[in-house]
Amino acid sequence: MPIDPTLPYDDQNIFAKILRGEIPCKKVHEDDHVLAFHDINPQAPTHVLVIPKAPFVSWDDFSARGTDEQIAAFVRGVGEVARMLGLVAPGYRLLANVGLDAHQEVPHLHVHLFAGRKLGPMLM
Ligand code: AMP
Repeated sequence: MPIDPTLPYDDQNIFAKILRGEIPCKKVHEDDHVLAFHDINPQAPTHVLVIPKAPFVSWDDFSARGTDEQIAAFVRGVGEVARMLGLVAPGYRLLANVGLDAHQEVPHLHVHLFAGRKLGPMLM
């Protein structure tokens, strides 16, 4: 079910549990600010989720409340994951769903990173 992104952060969401180590994930990368792991239901040969460690509900929440340091660390972290996976030359797609119409299901900010096949002009 999509979530209402205007609700306060719920620390029982599944990505919060992954960050606390209560639920396993297939980790791709981790640093002080960012965790990246494989999506459990991949929509492309490579489908990685990149999340900030700090509690933000969505891209909207993050862009409004995140500090410049948090935002820089997250943006750099996403790029780092793509470079680590060797995706720059073949190319990749980033996607962040925000709220009900976009069908955001997990109320912890995440950027989807898709790669490994021709993705077409748009992913809907
Ligand atoms: P969204 O619709 O943008 O909120 O995407 C949520 C994504 O989280 C979906 O692509 C799910 O497949 C993925 N997902 C849900 N639970 C897990 C999990 N435990 N480990 C990895 N990915 C998950």
